[in-house]
Amino acid sequence: MSHLAQPAAVPVPPVEPAPAVADFLPPELRVPSHDQVEGRMMPWPWPVVLDGEVVACAECETYRDWLIISTRGQVWLRCRAGHEQLEPRLDTAWFNRHSGPSDATHATFEDCLRHLGH
Ligand SMILES: [Zn+2]
Repeated sequence: MSHLAQPAAVPVPPVEPAPAVADFLPPELRVPSHDQVEGRMMPWPWPVVLDGEVVACAECETYRDWLIISTRGQVWLRCRAGHEQLEPRLDTAWFNRHSGPSDATHATFEDCLRHLGH
């Protein structure tokens, strides 16, 4: 005859963590369709040189006048023509070293692009 220990019947409702930003911004400022909304970006008018090699856009071969985007631990390069490519040799730490403390916070990715003239 088994005698299973029954846990004390005291249901504890799970504590819901308070949503950080959900439902805070008006709908027009939320752009969930663009997966880089959470990123930060900075203009980078110079060539990006990595390992002694100038990084060029894979599509239009431009090599300067970038927008550098840091999002979710990845760094992307965006050229003037709007091509975006992942640059795995750069990371968030690199981005933070090179971005000034004054980089503006923008509500949306598109606002930021406009601000930076892209
Ligand atoms: Zn390009």
